[in-house]
Amino acid sequence: MHPILSKAKENMATNRTFTMIKPDATGNGHIGSILADIIAGGFTIKAMKYTHLTAETAGAFYAVHKERPFYNDLVSFMSSGPIVAAILEKDNAVADFRTLIGATNPAEAAEGTIRAKYAKSIDANAVHGSDSDDNAAIEGSFFFSALEVH
Ligand code: GDP
Repeated sequence: MHPILSKAKENMATNRTFTMIKPDATGNGHIGSILADIIAGGFTIKAMKYTHLTAETAGAFYAVHKERPFYNDLVSFMSSGPIVAAILEKDNAVADFRTLIGATNPAEAAEGTIRAKYAKSIDANAVHGSDSDDNAAIEGSFFFSALEVH
């Protein structure tokens, strides 16, 4: 592969993540504040949509957690109201976004993080952030076609 193409591929792998603003935060009027924090954190929005998962689509998205005890609660919560799905770009996107959102349990999330500011509980925790470059690509393509990423 030409070095320029190889560099481009490498950048694709490390500079994008996928997020959802979860039903608790869309329902509580926090969409605007969370997007403002994301943009202030240095992320660029590459794709975005406001949608509502069904139990079936939420179950498919979280299939990796199927064996976990909280799977049914997670699927029912994630299909309980609308969500905002987005692909975000920044150097070191996956790790930096997880720093910006804070720990899964908002009670343990660092001060100033999105979950500390806007989340109420470990299940209603305001935002999703991909945990790896591979999952960011899989999750982004779950919601967006190539024509919807700009
Ligand atoms: P994340 O990567 O920080 O989102 O955390 P995980 O991948 O471990 O879990 C996925 C999602 O499942 C979390 O964001 C929570 O919404 C939910 N979750 C995780 N642990 C629990 C739990 O103990 N109980 C419930 N009800 N939900 C949980």
